[in-house]
Amino acid sequence: MLMPQTVSFSKNAINVFFHILTRCNLSCRHCYINPAQHGDRTLALETIAAWLAAFVVPSRPANLVLLGGEPTLHPDLAAIVAEARRLGYASVTIDTNGYLFHDIIKKVTPEDVDFFSFSLDGPTPEINDPIRGKGSFAACTAGIRAAKARGFHTSLIYTVSAENIAALDRMPPLLADLGIERFFIQVIGMRGKSAAPGKGQIQVNRDTWLSLIPDVAARTAELGITTVFPKVFLAPDEPFECAGLVAENFFIFPNGRVYRCPLCEDHPLHCLEFADSRLIPTPKINENDLFALNIPEGCVMNKLIQPGNLTYRKDGSPAYRIACCLLKEEVSPGVS
Ligand code: SF4
Ligand code: SF4
Repeated sequence: MLMPQTVSFSKNAINVFFHILTRCNLSCRHCYINPAQHGDRTLALETIAAWLAAFVVPSRPANLVLLGGEPTLHPDLAAIVAEARRLGYASVTIDTNGYLFHDIIKKVTPEDVDFFSFSLDGPTPEINDPIRGKGSFAACTAGIRAAKARGFHTSLIYTVSAENIAALDRMPPLLADLGIERFFIQVIGMRGKSAAPGKGQIQVNRDTWLSLIPDVAARTAELGITTVFPKVFLAPDEPFECAGLVAENFFIFPNGRVYRCPLCEDHPLHCLEFADSRLIPTPKINENDLFALNIPEGCVMNKLIQPGNLTYRKDGSPAYRIACCLLKEEVSPGVS
């Protein structure tokens, strides 16, 4: 079986995750967008250009992921991509639900956009559509085929929850049929709609995760598709690192908030914000004050906002530690 390798945090690259609007044509059950915390503006091209420029540092590669809402609803998306390239961003990815509005794949080229990354949460409409919306399986798979036909690299994100984990092992043949090159298995985060009262236990427990995810990842990689999934559960001998302390990740929202930790995004804990076009630090207490807290459960934000994935021994000590949500494992074709 192909074995996962832990991907160390990059200490040099700057990774910018830019939500250019929060509007979306879908209403997925687990959507993490929270307009009360993130705003509901569609940012103007000039604002986006100025905010993008704030993260460009000579001699350090910057990678950009454009997100929404649904970013292809932004009428200036092609111009935003061009501006990112002009500023020197090393890579540009567009995350999309697959509807590909405004004929975006005819307005950008595979030289401009490294990957279109599609979100799909099931191998069939029967699994996917109750989660993401009626007709979304057909629209997403049609979007993937259209992007492939124009020569774009494509990846696919599958958000695993208790609702769809049983169907994950049926994804590899579909991914191969669609010509997907990179498969990202994501774990449900208790943010946005998922954090709403009455949702029940939708987080996946450790035994289920460990018995299923590495196996599906290996079988997907055997089809030639690089597969990435979050570490989530650390083994006793694995070190814990908080990306907020050792890596440069920035999650930007239309209201100007900039977070270093995605788990903080439902709360006004952002450590940076844009005031007009200037990026300024926010006053204490913010997420920076949490990153250095050393707790036996590993990630402090996990314990605060989504402790349903923790279990404890009889003596009260945690049975294992939770990794930083940004720590990934990768299974590459041909690497065993
Ligand atoms: S496609 Fe993305 S932004 Fe739109 S509702 Fe679904 S999860 Fe939210
Ligand atoms: S998820 Fe946890 S470990 Fe990762 S940046 Fe946030 S607080 Fe730090």
